[in-house]
Amino acid sequence: MKLRSFLFAATLLCGPLVAPLQAQQAADAIPPEMTTDLSAPVTDPGLRASQLLKSAGRPAKAGQWMISAAHPMAVQAGADVLREGGSAADAMVAAQAMLGLVEPQSSGLGGGGFLVFYDAELGEVFTLDGRETAPLDATPTLFQVDGAPMGFFDAVVGGLSVGVPGTPALMEATHERWGRKPWARLFTPAIRAAQDGFPVSARLAAMVGVDRDRLAVHPVTAAYFLPLGEPVQAGDLLQNPAYATSLEALAESGSAAFYDGQVATAIVSAVQGAAQPGMLSEWDMRNYTVKERDPACSVFLSFEVCGMGPPSSGAVAVGQILGLTEAFYAELDQPLAEVLRTPGKRDDFLTLWGNVGRMAFADRGRYLADSDYVPVPVRGLLDPAYLAQRAALASDMSAMAEVVPGQPQFDHALNWADHEGRALPSTTHISIVDSYGNALSLTSSVENAFGSRVMVGGFLLNNQLTDFSFRSHRDGVPIANRVEPGKRPRSSMSPTIVLQDGKPVLVVGSPGGSRIIGYVAEYILRVLGEGQGVQQAAAAPHAVNRFGTYDFEVGPQGDTIAQALAERGFETRVTGMNSGLHAVMVTPEGLLGAADPRREGIAYGE
Ligand code: GLU
Repeated sequence: MKLRSFLFAATLLCGPLVAPLQAQQAADAIPPEMTTDLSAPVTDPGLRASQLLKSAGRPAKAGQWMISAAHPMAVQAGADVLREGGSAADAMVAAQAMLGLVEPQSSGLGGGGFLVFYDAELGEVFTLDGRETAPLDATPTLFQVDGAPMGFFDAVVGGLSVGVPGTPALMEATHERWGRKPWARLFTPAIRAAQDGFPVSARLAAMVGVDRDRLAVHPVTAAYFLPLGEPVQAGDLLQNPAYATSLEALAESGSAAFYDGQVATAIVSAVQGAAQPGMLSEWDMRNYTVKERDPACSVFLSFEVCGMGPPSSGAVAVGQILGLTEAFYAELDQPLAEVLRTPGKRDDFLTLWGNVGRMAFADRGRYLADSDYVPVPVRGLLDPAYLAQRAALASDMSAMAEVVPGQPQFDHALNWADHEGRALPSTTHISIVDSYGNALSLTSSVENAFGSRVMVGGFLLNNQLTDFSFRSHRDGVPIANRVEPGKRPRSSMSPTIVLQDGKPVLVVGSPGGSRIIGYVAEYILRVLGEGQGVQQAAAAPHAVNRFGTYDFEVGPQGDTIAQALAERGFETRVTGMNSGLHAVMVTPEGLLGAADPRREGIAYGE
């Protein structure tokens, strides 16, 4: 039996392949070319130590609880709650409220998100859909002019792209169900920081600089990010009293204050009065609901990979990629890290990986959309028999000449046309394990960096409606992800909790537009398949094929690998990849936390 098959069998027979803490430590040296941005402000000595560990390529370690998020101040807010005996739900609310202030380009009250929660008492995974929703007046031609799709940024900037935000309702629903601390307490750190001011991080300052023309379109947004007409600079102390007021209303009266009151009225008038007016109404705001969905779970080796089903394509595509890779992976006679260092074998693996990505994205393009509007064959798409039949198509070690969506078992026999997605530098991910054994994985977003660029109440409104297909039909066939009134746009967000023997072993997710799917699948493969260090895996270079070019991350090997895969028939590209993996791993010896060195976040636990 080959080594991989042996490991696979051993995993099934003996349980965890989870690397013990020591092996994790040894594996956790990251390549010297990865540098960590230390400019994000941290004063707490414990968090500062975590930041230094991260820059040395090492994981954070803890015994009781752990939080990993995209900004140290958000980690601090969450950690303080966890230390006081708060639950993962409480810590998420505190951290998300802070992220809306310090990382406003990525997520906030004006955005939406998906939450995966492992309830330790019930021993079950739950998923909550807090995705933005199209106004009831929206139609399939929302982003068309004279029947032709608008340019992407023409659609993004202004009111047209704004869906009803879901984040405030999602925070509240999560707290109602799994919170232990008083709701209002969770907002204190963010309110204080908004009133006193927070130091602008290098990443935020850089993004404001790049986006200054679009941020200048709406006066309220411009006044905040471009005071006196110039971009805020790293280290500037930025106060946001309007955000403090919005949070105070939320803290006092719950999400009703947001969806049915002064905040709602302000949002609606900002959207309708924006440079490119949208159609969001107070009725739309009042009728927003968080939807509990069935988790979408798939099997990889001895693990159960659970995540967010439709309207996210995340869990289905991650599960397909891992499922389509498993047989080939199990036959490797060396660890993947070594395979990736041996050109011929590396190119075989990356050929398979590229073909698998194309197949998963072909299915995603055709079938994935809001399942309240179109039947989505989730079970059929993750069925091992279907995946085995698809995997057989990728047995040649060259780029498949043609990739088309498969024919999974349908619950309803309907056909849809395809629709592509994009990759963008915003969005955020929080992973938490609390001292009660609960695990929480939340990816939240305002979609594009700075969303629609419309700001109200101290926060940015999302442009999530541009995640719909701008076209409504292809060759006369309706596109599953076309705009429809009250529908939720398809997402790639992949908040994930991986279980083994029914217990969480890995909590992970990432921003990165439709590349999220590849980042998360890769991470699971490296950490759980390979036993690679959690921090090392977060730093590893990416290879993602979304059914367009095969993208390789800029780095020492990027060009060589792209060249080798071009020789296998792929159209390749070497590019920067803005992942933001935040993970917590549960090992028999304790918790390990990782934060992507490409962003400012850290992991911290006690
Ligand atoms: N709007 C994207 C989605 O829901 C996420 C955007 C991003 O990650 O930058 O899939």
